[in-house]
Amino acid sequence: MHTSDALLALDNLSVTYGHVRAVDGVSLTVGHGEVVALLGANGAGKSSLLRAISGTGGERNGSVLLQGESLLDGARYRVARRGVAHAMEGRRIIGPLTVADNLLLAAHASQRNERRAVPGRLDEVFSYFPKLYERRAQHAGLLSGGEQQMLAIGRAIVSRPDLLLLDEPSMGLAPIVIEEIYELLRSREGTLASCGILLSEQSAALALGVSERAYVLARGRIVFDGRADELDKEKVAAAYLNN
Ligand code: ATP
Repeated sequence: MHTSDALLALDNLSVTYGHVRAVDGVSLTVGHGEVVALLGANGAGKSSLLRAISGTGGERNGSVLLQGESLLDGARYRVARRGVAHAMEGRRIIGPLTVADNLLLAAHASQRNERRAVPGRLDEVFSYFPKLYERRAQHAGLLSGGEQQMLAIGRAIVSRPDLLLLDEPSMGLAPIVIEEIYELLRSREGTLASCGILLSEQSAALALGVSERAYVLARGRIVFDGRADELDKEKVAAAYLNN
């Protein structure tokens, strides 16, 4: 894909924390409506790469273009308004607020929803995750880990992003919950049908099952990439061992 046609184009992006270089000269693209996996072992730099796109951590060098415009100059809230939603590892939900208020806040903060459209956005999330509907009046801090992950993804969905950054959505969750989340990614209904998704995962098997293309990171560099159905599984495993 030519980078000027891409929804997201990273060119020679590096991310540092003081003397630590977590991401080292990464170039990649995500197309409009495309699902792209970002694979790599623990510490390979996946979270740092996603945080660099949403402007939530690390010193950035290089270029990050969303629909041809740089994301490096904007504060975090501006990045969200420009259509990037980031469901982070660790979840970042607001514990003292109810489930419904967490969703409402995310819908309004993005400023991409007409007020009238917001209830429909919440209904969309509740239709994917009926447990969130059952718990809509409870404080989010009381949810189980799996429900918190659903809420983090729900908050991203209600903001109607063009680009969704999903950081290790399977992390620490029971297999049945992982299946529920991945079933949603596989079915790609509603909002998820039209937005581009950059999906970071340690589990290559999970992520490749829902992605069109993948990049494999080791020690902050892309060691290879390709179509998800053509990636050499042994090379993926070797990249993890060499991290
Ligand atoms: P994980 O699966 O553990 O989240 P990852 O692939 O997402 O791994 P990162 O969390 O991006 O990897 O970490 C990449 C490197 O950057 C690691 O060496 C890590 O120790 C370092 N690092 C990450 N965040 C910080 C930080 N805030 N300050 C200093 N170093 C950091």
